[in-house]
Amino acid sequence: MPAITPTDTSVLRVLEESHDSPRPVQSIVTAQASFEGAGFPVNRPFPQPGADLGATDPFLMLDEMGPIQYGPGEAVGAPDHPHRGFETVTYLFDGEMEHRDSTGGGGLLRGVDTQWMTAGAGLVHSEEPTEAMLRDGGLMHGTQLWVNLPRADKLTPPRYQNLDGDKLTLARSADGRAVVRIIAGDLGGQSGPGTTHTPIVYAHATIDAGGQLALAWPTDYNALVYVLRGRVRVGDDSRTVGEHQLVVLGRDGESVIVEADETADVLLLGGRPLREPVAWYGPFVMNTKQEIVDSLELFETGKLGSIPPRPE
Ligand code: MN
Repeated sequence: MPAITPTDTSVLRVLEESHDSPRPVQSIVTAQASFEGAGFPVNRPFPQPGADLGATDPFLMLDEMGPIQYGPGEAVGAPDHPHRGFETVTYLFDGEMEHRDSTGGGGLLRGVDTQWMTAGAGLVHSEEPTEAMLRDGGLMHGTQLWVNLPRADKLTPPRYQNLDGDKLTLARSADGRAVVRIIAGDLGGQSGPGTTHTPIVYAHATIDAGGQLALAWPTDYNALVYVLRGRVRVGDDSRTVGEHQLVVLGRDGESVIVEADETADVLLLGGRPLREPVAWYGPFVMNTKQEIVDSLELFETGKLGSIPPRPE
């Protein structure tokens, strides 16, 4: 993980603390290692075969991409492919990627930038290492979160929010031992810059050994903690959770507590479940089977477009 914590954390805003009835741990899931796109390694805490989609709703998928150290010429990405009916949120810690799409959208991502792509009505895009990354190699590490869209917004026009690293809301815990970058939503009295279609919170916390985060959590939100690095204790009974593990917290309780035994990086995720039918086929996430059939036809007949050639 890169050094993305300011050296002087005393200047940061302070997150309001809450220890009110901490939520219990419902389950701890170890991410599955696999490969995506042209063959980059991912750790996937959810979804997993047979998993209850309701436990993570409105989130569909979380992939930790890498970390992987590439040599010159080795870096791979995900060449042209479609998406429809949801959003992909890419948060890059290390490395460089270039996203391009059939609407002319996209952008360059460097650690620690976030790109929030609303696929909505549909597009074709590519997610590739930059030319420099391909030529020189280097460390690639990031996450991609899939956020479902409510039925009413499934066909919203594609849109990008390029949230550069310096635009994220930085705040520290009351004990000064945790720094939190809020990407979207409200947390401890602070708000992130991302605009969302339904109420969610998405944040990244770095917690020093001995530090504690204790935050109020809306009672109608799911609550998830994913450990990127280190080891933490979570929940009302301080269950120990390690690297590449996801904690699903139960619904009873009003706060989320994470304590670090060693320096740790965790993602905090929560949202109000959509509780709508999910019809999911590969890169398409709709509400009905017919909408999936329609999506495939749009793609196969070229109606989701193609990525324009690079300007000369
Ligand atoms: Mn994609």
